[in-house]
Amino acid sequence: MPQIVENARLKELNSFGLDVTAKQLCIYHSPDDIRQLISQIGALTDKRILILGGGCNILFVNNFDGIIIHPNNSGISIESETDDYCLVKAGAGTVWDTLVEWAVERNLGGIENLSLIPGTVGASPVQNIGAYGCEAKDAIERVNVVSLTDGSTSTLTNTECRFGYRDSAFKHELKDKYLVDSVVYRLSKKPQFVTHYGSLSGEIEKLGGPSLRTIRQAIINIRNSKLPDPKVLGNVGSFFKNPTVDAAVAEKLLAKFPDMVTYPAGEGRMKIAAGWMIDHCGLKGYTNAAKTAGVHTQQALVLVNLGGATGRDIIDVAHHVQNAVYEKFGIKIEPEAIVI
Ligand SMILES: Cc1cc2nc3c(=O)[nH]c(=O)nc-3n(C[C@H](O)[C@H](O)[C@H](O)COP(=O)(O)OP(=O)(O)OC[C@H]3O[C@@H](n4cnc5c(N)ncnc54)[C@H](O)[C@@H]3O)c2cc1C
Repeated sequence: MPQIVENARLKELNSFGLDVTAKQLCIYHSPDDIRQLISQIGALTDKRILILGGGCNILFVNNFDGIIIHPNNSGISIESETDDYCLVKAGAGTVWDTLVEWAVERNLGGIENLSLIPGTVGASPVQNIGAYGCEAKDAIERVNVVSLTDGSTSTLTNTECRFGYRDSAFKHELKDKYLVDSVVYRLSKKPQFVTHYGSLSGEIEKLGGPSLRTIRQAIINIRNSKLPDPKVLGNVGSFFKNPTVDAAVAEKLLAKFPDMVTYPAGEGRMKIAAGWMIDHCGLKGYTNAAKTAGVHTQQALVLVNLGGATGRDIIDVAHHVQNAVYEKFGIKIEPEAIVI
């Protein structure tokens, strides 16, 4: 049987640092663990389950009254290579940034712009993590999964994962049906650098010009200067998604708020920076009455556990922010974080 902890504390397994528990926590090492669990208790798809990586994008509002499966199968290996690229396989439990560091040290390109994103390899296809003009989908060759119905293993191609913006089939038709066991990335021996994003090129120049190492270091420097470290101030990065609206709605708002930050989002659609709207509601640094939870003082999109917050405290702050934005701009902003 796989290792199962009863009434497990999850404080170290969620980046908000919330002191919540799971009825059962199953530590996953290989597909055999799922098969043994199924033979004991039946198909997991009928049970209340949650696959939890680093918990860096999850808000637990309550204790979890079910089974949490936590992949702990770390490891990185080269599956095959040509003159142009390497196919690199990493276990779901591998810390994402360990893989990025491993790749950069071997001069393999494709994921360096995703440096320092917290969490695990297993979540990278689920979330299609992205930053600085790159997304995991650009490097994912295939995803090896285990069925939670019968424990069988199979492989999904990049296309079958149906990647979208911070989105994939794992959040829709494959949700709660498969556990990601490992991911195979195609990493280039002749990398194309992506350096156009925001202040990145300036930071790279300060480090001596573009290379995989300087891009990684520049991104680490920028992220460390901008985002709160979850080990110091619990958070899940951007708590809200940038809403997409009809171009006509955006134009009306731009007439009223000319400095509003917007981006084109396909035919007749515009994306509005949620952080800009939150900031313009005067909510940077907002805290609840108990001062346990609030909006980060530097980053309006980031909600923080100021110490001793409950999930309810965070969600109350989120609702306050959503209401204020709706009142001022008539726009509904939705959480990017997964609320459990
Ligand atoms: C400070 C900070 C900065 C961040 N910056 C970014 C950023 O720049 N870009 C970005 O994209 N994200 C960012 N994030 C969000 C977060 O890092 C990512 O969403 C990351 O992929 C979460 O990884 P995790 O292992 O913690 O996943 P979790 O939060 O544990 O899980 C996320 C989802 O994936 C599912 N899941 C996890 N592992 C598996 C598996 N093996 N099989 C099947 N399903 C699984 C879970 O069930 C859940 O639905 C940031 C977070 C923080 C705290």
